[in-house]
Amino acid sequence: MSTIIAIDGPAGSGKSTLARALAERLSFDVLDTGAMYRALTVECLRRGVDVTSDEAVSDVAHAIHVTTLPDVRVDGRLVDDQLRTPEVNIAVSIVAALPAARAAMVRAQREQAAASTRGLVAEGRDLTTVVFPDATIKIFLTASLDERARRRGEESRDSVARRDHLDSTRSASPLRQANDARLLDTTGRSVAELVEEVVGWLENITSN
Ligand code: C5P
Repeated sequence: MSTIIAIDGPAGSGKSTLARALAERLSFDVLDTGAMYRALTVECLRRGVDVTSDEAVSDVAHAIHVTTLPDVRVDGRLVDDQLRTPEVNIAVSIVAALPAARAAMVRAQREQAAASTRGLVAEGRDLTTVVFPDATIKIFLTASLDERARRRGEESRDSVARRDHLDSTRSASPLRQANDARLLDTTGRSVAELVEEVVGWLENITSN
């Protein structure tokens, strides 16, 4: 298996930004699993599927093919501009709490990782705990709620707090810090600084 850097953390903690910057610095692929849950949600809403029904949502998850690079597509259809609407912000954490739907997404994520030959930076809520428990490095990102809401731009502070609450209290793969994940507080820190810190950890691990 090639190198996997797995990053979890709440909304706006800086996961996507750090993942992309690390992937660039190390010439790795990047896997944005939040975008996958959002794309599944967009497709469920488009089909008029009941987003509280695990059976209905997991049927959709099995039927579609979601790709995230270079842009987010469902069965080849571009959905990038629909991922962050208020409707999706509300529904995505409901969809993501459904166990069978999650199982289908986890399988798709592992398949994408297996297809990556260069090394992978994967980010989301359960990458360190469920999807890649044997990742080379596991990181749990945090930042203050003020900073996280500011980074989320158009999404309100209440919406960010609500998603965090749902994501960390659900019974299926809740957001939590894995015992062996390194805690990284991104409040007030530059992306370049964070990238160098993680690259330093990686060099230490791979030279031992
Ligand atoms: O990362 P992002 O904020 O785009 O994720 C959107 C939502 O997708 C999260 O609030 C969470 O409900 C869900 N998610 C998840 N597990 C992941 C990634 C995202 O439950 N691995």
